[in-house]
Amino acid sequence: MIIVLKPGVSRKEIKDISKRLKEKGYLVDVSEGKERVVIGAIGSNVEEKEAFMAQLSFLPCVEKVMPILKPYKLVSSEYREKTVVNVGDVKIGGRKVVLMAGPCAVEGGEQTLQIAKALMRAGVKILRAGAFKPRTSPYSFQGFGRKGLQMLDAARKATGIKVVTEVMEPRDVGMVAEHSDIVQIGTRNMHNFELLKEAGKSGAPVLLKRGFAATIEEWLLAAEYIAKEGNQNIILCERGIRTFETHTRNTLDLNAVAAVKQLSHLPVAVDPSHGTGRVELVAPLSRAAVAAGADGVMLEVHPDPASALSDGQQTISMKSFLSLRKELDAVAKAVGRTLG
Ligand code: PEP
Ligand code: MN
Repeated sequence: MIIVLKPGVSRKEIKDISKRLKEKGYLVDVSEGKERVVIGAIGSNVEEKEAFMAQLSFLPCVEKVMPILKPYKLVSSEYREKTVVNVGDVKIGGRKVVLMAGPCAVEGGEQTLQIAKALMRAGVKILRAGAFKPRTSPYSFQGFGRKGLQMLDAARKATGIKVVTEVMEPRDVGMVAEHSDIVQIGTRNMHNFELLKEAGKSGAPVLLKRGFAATIEEWLLAAEYIAKEGNQNIILCERGIRTFETHTRNTLDLNAVAAVKQLSHLPVAVDPSHGTGRVELVAPLSRAAVAAGADGVMLEVHPDPASALSDGQQTISMKSFLSLRKELDAVAKAVGRTLG
């Protein structure tokens, strides 16, 4: 439920209500807005919920009490105003549309460093690259694992760029969080509840990709698992879903971007590289993503896409990236934002 307090409420009153809620077994979150203090309280199987809500609504400091009707609570837009995820000094979910770019996989220390430097020169503050690669075939390149993480860490230390990289195993969350700035949960792991819980416990910013066969509600419930552990530093990422269409690798669901921006307070990024699987579609879908309200765009970029160890067919060159960047800048301005 959401408890909206009257203006000018005292600390003691906030504390007293929080205590009452906790005693009943609720998870309590107090957000102090400019004008109002709002308490979010989540409890499952709480007895006599309605009677309790009525009692709370009669308290002199309470303006109103509302149930959260959605199955996802903590990540719902009813629960909170917009969340801005702070990744060091980079803010995701604010006025700026944030670019995350880099190769599909970490391919070597020197290459990672050179890409990080080139991206920094282009004003990109977040490098993407997988050290742990979830591949459809066990015979495909699986990534450099731990060594890849160290390469990413070295590049970020040398350049100051932030790093987003995937974690596949619950036991690796701590290690990945230590060597990066945003922990990515991939499409194939969106339903890996133990991984979601560990990512929640880590407190690290999490980029949660939508499962390729997950509904919007399932995606938001996956985010709820992370939030329930006390971590609201979540960036949702639409990366395409599987449909009957075979021309493209996936169907980028921009409906979901606009919808989730209304259903949730969390920032939403879009990955047009995996969303289309085709290099020639990456630019138009990136523009569309920004126009649809994306807070971030994640792009696979490689100095020589033809020699990339994975996903070369959907990876743009640095040159294409630089011209796309200009186009995205113009689209961002047209929707009242700027590119970060
Ligand atoms: C990736 O971004 O490296 C990746 C594997 O993406 P997805 O989980 O969306 O397939
Ligand atoms: Mn890829």
